[in-house]
Amino acid sequence: MNSVKMPERKLSRRRLLSLGAYGAMAVLSGGSQSAAGEGKDQPTSPRGRKESALQKVPILCYHRVHSDDDPDTPPIRPGTYCGHVTRSVFQWQMEQLAKRGFSTITRPQLYAWLTGKAKLPAAKVVAIDFDDNRLNVMENAVPIMKRYGFTGTAFTISSWADGRESEDMKVFPVMGWRELAKLVKLGWTIGAHTVNHPDLAKLSKKENGLKLVEQEMSGCNEEIRRHLGITPLDFTYPDGLWNEDVEKVARRYYRTIRHWSTTDTPMNTAATAPYRLQAINISMLMDKKTFLGILDKASGLSSGSQNR
Ligand SMILES: [Zn+2]
Repeated sequence: MNSVKMPERKLSRRRLLSLGAYGAMAVLSGGSQSAAGEGKDQPTSPRGRKESALQKVPILCYHRVHSDDDPDTPPIRPGTYCGHVTRSVFQWQMEQLAKRGFSTITRPQLYAWLTGKAKLPAAKVVAIDFDDNRLNVMENAVPIMKRYGFTGTAFTISSWADGRESEDMKVFPVMGWRELAKLVKLGWTIGAHTVNHPDLAKLSKKENGLKLVEQEMSGCNEEIRRHLGITPLDFTYPDGLWNEDVEKVARRYYRTIRHWSTTDTPMNTAATAPYRLQAINISMLMDKKTFLGILDKASGLSSGSQNR
């Protein structure tokens, strides 16, 4: 049993070693979340399934998209965590996706593929996530994404959407329920990101810790359901911090659970367990070459694209 946070890279190798068992577990446990595939996707032919199995899907994870002249944009300090891009950088990145023929994939579509219920909707797909429901995502990212027909998943901290943001994180305005409802109308998925954004691994070690962990998930779901009429089925750990006890609780609530790498560019494949999705942190520290490298790695079968 794993009590401390595992570095993302180690997790990735460990996951690879365990894929067979985890894959089987995912299939066995998948029945509890009925929204899988949303009933729209058709089962694939054996050939389609084979092709689909070779595809790689990156999840690009953003936190904040600042206007280029936003005085609150933090300085970029190499070697430390960077949680933002500027609007012009985001515009360039979305343009690259569009130019190279990428479309965005929704969480239900991703889950359907991972569980063998459907093939991917296109040869080149990418998922775009935004954590922490920041308002500048609505202001700056959404208009650009709309232009290209892209949608994303907004991982929502319910107390922040309620206007109860914690003091230490109260730097940038957040999206409330009204903005989140707009995203739903635009075809976005709303994911859960706990009530208060605690370190769940640490919380799990307290007295009745797993109960507290569960309350962070059930409470978040309840609030999202109350305000948006949706029960979230997708989750990501605050700050990427987790352990296997926390994971067990999360799997009772969610069809997909996402991890997060600030140091690597991991891809998801047909063999990835839905509850151990990998995401890449996109920030001002990532240069253009690295971003394009992600797209090359993710290219579909027909492109013949290679890593640079
Ligand atoms: Zn977060």
